[in-house]
Amino acid sequence: MFCACPVEFGAAPNSRTCPTCLGLPGALPVMNHEALRLTVLTGLMLGCEITPVSKFNRKNYFYPDMPKNYQISQYDLPLCTRGLVPLHDLAYPKDAQKNIATPDKEVALVRIHLEEDVAKSFHFESSTGIDFNRAGTPLMEIVSEPEIQSPEEAFAFLTALKQILIYGGVSDADMEKGQLRCDCNISVRPESQQELGAKIEIKNLNSISGVRRALAHEVRRQMEALGRGEKLEQETRGWDDVAGQTFLMRTKEFAHDYRYFADPDLVPVKTETLLEEARARVPELPKAKRARFVNDYGVSAYDAGVLADDIALAGYFETAAKGAKKPKNVANWILNDLQSALAGAGRAITDCPIPPEALEGLLDLIESGKISGKQAKEVFTEMFASGKSAAAIVEEKGIEQLSDVAAIEALCDRAIADNPKPAADFKAGNAASLNFLKGQVMKLSGGKANPAWVGEILERKLREVSH
Ligand SMILES: [Zn+2]
Repeated sequence: MFCACPVEFGAAPNSRTCPTCLGLPGALPVMNHEALRLTVLTGLMLGCEITPVSKFNRKNYFYPDMPKNYQISQYDLPLCTRGLVPLHDLAYPKDAQKNIATPDKEVALVRIHLEEDVAKSFHFESSTGIDFNRAGTPLMEIVSEPEIQSPEEAFAFLTALKQILIYGGVSDADMEKGQLRCDCNISVRPESQQELGAKIEIKNLNSISGVRRALAHEVRRQMEALGRGEKLEQETRGWDDVAGQTFLMRTKEFAHDYRYFADPDLVPVKTETLLEEARARVPELPKAKRARFVNDYGVSAYDAGVLADDIALAGYFETAAKGAKKPKNVANWILNDLQSALAGAGRAITDCPIPPEALEGLLDLIESGKISGKQAKEVFTEMFASGKSAAAIVEEKGIEQLSDVAAIEALCDRAIADNPKPAADFKAGNAASLNFLKGQVMKLSGGKANPAWVGEILERKLREVSH
């Protein structure tokens, strides 16, 4: 945030540091403009008010992960205030999507501020090691109002927020790499009471499903304690994901006095230019993309949701669907065959062996009747394995469907002549004998005849004869 050290996950401990982020005497901070811009961009994406003039403060405290003995953060003039995160059905956990208490809820935000991250401590058997690589990296803190009313809503909030951050290119928001972390404050109250109970914080939750589990446990724990007549005090707890329990870390007997004051090494930040630059970078957001997919491509709201869930998948779909006659079919192929093939191969859509244009090529062959739906599945499997185009595979393997009307008519005539009994049965009203004749034509064509056409032609011929 205030130096030029690279941000790199998995680098050797203390290999990405400099005098500034180590807090050595005399080192001076310089603001990272891109971090400021991305924070303003996040504010714009979430409908926040952007403060015209913002500033950085020193948050004074002594802790081994912060060798300057203060953290540069924001206090009374954060970059963004207010704003909201819109929740949508697919952001909820799968098992909770059918039972959403407040559909299309929007969770209001208090503020978004920017600060420097602190170092990471590793506790060994008899010592603690500190890795300063993370110290000084830009950290954006997004604070919501106490409006989230269930662990499932918290899950949806984080999922929807993460999606927007990825859409804006603000962060990869990979929780496993610590790029998105979460502290939750939980309060319960009797139904008859307006005021919320003691605020209990669970720190450092590092997965969205972990947040849901921790909250479910903590809400139950607090309600049981109140049920026993105990009084809850403000405290900070940790989460043991293996045991499925929260545990006490510290009680807030002493309110911290951070003695905030404006950092004299940094000038105030006028946001006018940042705002202009950030405005140009506001992307189409997930909500708008979902609506557009339904409108422009005729896909269902659910499918639009799944496609827009992942910006890379959305981009893939859009490239493949652009020239397609039936974009809905493109969506079906992506959501069924392609996604299951990717999952089976353990690959991401960004690493898909079939480029979107090639998928469109396969659909063209199906829609023009050159190959049947069944043949298409074979061609698709081969495309995924070899990366070759559908047309090349069809030609190589000679799996082209027979779509020559005259040729199919000739085969139908032959099948009818060879099988007078089933033909007569059909004419007498036994509809099932058509399937037998259809089977005969398919056999004569070596399985290559377009089955839909065979059915149509046979039926027409048999009715013609009977009239
Ligand atoms: Zn540094």
